Amino acid sequence: MNNADMARVLIIGSGIGGLSVGIILAKLGFDVTVVEKNRQPGGMLRSYVRQGVHCNVGLHYMGALDEGQVLRRCFDYLGITADLPLMRMGGDGPVDRYLFDDDSLGVDSFDVPVGFETYEANLRTAFPDQHRQIDGLMAMLRRSGCQFDQLDFLYSEKPAEYWFEEAEPLGGVFERLGCSPGLRAVFGVPSVLIGVPPAVCPQFYHTMALASYLFSAWRLASNGTHMADVCARRLASLGGQIRTGDAVARIRTTDGSVRGVTLASGDIIDADLVIGAIHPKQIVGLLAPESLKPSYRRRIAALTDTGGMAAVHALVPADRHPAIAHNLFAIQTDAAGDTRDLIYVQLRSSERPDQNLLSLITSGHETLWDRWQQTISGRRGDEYLQTKMDFAHRLIAQAEKITGPLSGVRLLDVSTPLTIRDWVNSPNGSAYGVMRSTRQLSAALLNRTSLRGLFLAGQSVMAPGVLGTIIGSLATVQFIVGPERFRKEVRI
Ligand SMILES: Cc1cc2nc3c(=O)[nH]c(=O)nc-3n(C[C@H](O)[C@H](O)[C@H](O)COP(=O)(O)OP(=O)(O)OC[C@H]3O[C@@H](n4cnc5c(N)ncnc54)[C@H](O)[C@@H]3O)c2cc1C
Repeated sequence: MNNADMARVLIIGSGIGGLSVGIILAKLGFDVTVVEKNRQPGGMLRSYVRQGVHCNVGLHYMGALDEGQVLRRCFDYLGITADLPLMRMGGDGPVDRYLFDDDSLGVDSFDVPVGFETYEANLRTAFPDQHRQIDGLMAMLRRSGCQFDQLDFLYSEKPAEYWFEEAEPLGGVFERLGCSPGLRAVFGVPSVLIGVPPAVCPQFYHTMALASYLFSAWRLASNGTHMADVCARRLASLGGQIRTGDAVARIRTTDGSVRGVTLASGDIIDADLVIGAIHPKQIVGLLAPESLKPSYRRRIAALTDTGGMAAVHALVPADRHPAIAHNLFAIQTDAAGDTRDLIYVQLRSSERPDQNLLSLITSGHETLWDRWQQTISGRRGDEYLQTKMDFAHRLIAQAEKITGPLSGVRLLDVSTPLTIRDWVNSPNGSAYGVMRSTRQLSAALLNRTSLRGLFLAGQSVMAPGVLGTIIGSLATVQFIVGPERFRKEVRI
């Protein structure tokens, strides 16, 4: 029996990775069951509600959703486009506004617009002595952006590794072209949005992050819970099942092949294929030690993950603080111009007409939360709550440097890397899973495992973000059904 004949698929985890791989396989006729440990599906996609307002966790904006563009083609294939109310960002203004704190960069602020041409023009205006360097950066961006838009790494004859592993690190590109610290600072920001320092970010991944937003940029008019529910309903409409509130406790194997899973409740589900749409290190923990090759186990254990993130959500009076159609970034750089840390700021309307929702996201500040490592969400005690409040007030004060003074702020919630760790089982609360750095390129494509019938999906297998995770799902399906059937039946 080859993989394509195996009908029963058990998917661990119902984030966008698990749901998208489930929808694709259900469309191809597989019998799909998704198991989710949380009470509701969606993982980081799912927003939570405070004082009647949805706070998004892992979905603030998406790129490439205009008709014919790559994420839109993925959504169309999944069959979810019509149910997702989208708001276009940019228009006449920017999508992102970067504000830098270091005067020596020679650039205080930079607007990232929609469109490669306008982006290039903005670079040339900001860095009039860097035309040759900008020529080089834009040629690279256009070339990789086009390959990425066409999903060459899925549909060409060359193996996926070719596209991802041949890529030069962005830091190397900057040095080769002799880019100034200011140009490095501006051009490098998108790599930080996928959790990779620019110096070691493979150029192709950086392009994925930057080009997708230059194609077009969007916010959901609703919220992450709505998108999670749309995906879950779509899977159900294709005959897939989602079992929530029960974790996979064990992956069952015999003779080097998977047989199914045992759940925390003790229930057993038989399956011909198991897809772990959770962090690969968690998958290894679900397998008996002898079932995996020691080299595979060591390879996964040695992977470096992206860091965690901390987020603050607050309400502000809408009349004093109108919604902003673009994102703001307060960026700190090092001497070379590479981003050291940033604060992402989104100010948008909320479910309460008189209040807007202010969302701030920054690096995890892990040492602040160290003493609560051994605790679980909801039971960390008053000191943790106080530390979160103090952190939130400091972050808001820092954000005011770029938003201007904020008055009437009412805190809704603060999440830390420990929150993410406990919510989705991400090691140490890693925001984007396995780091796509040039230091671990050979380990970067994780869709296949050393065990027959066990595959991986989710943000760690190929690339993070909604788009990167869905592309990872497509690649996993390609490994399962084989390239020929994939190219014939999965037209994106
Ligand atoms: C703060 C933040 C902001 C972000 N902003 C954006 C953005 O604006 N745009 C964008 O495109 N991307 C963004 N991302 C990234 C994006 O959210 C993720 O890449 C994507 O949601 C990951 O999906 P996933 O399915 O791989 O993982 P997850 O969403 O983590 O899903 C894994 C699921 O598996 C479940 N699970 C774990 N263990 C088990 C088990 N043993 N049994 C059963 N179930 C289990 C978990 O509960 C979870 O539901 C952001 C991420 C973060 C952290």
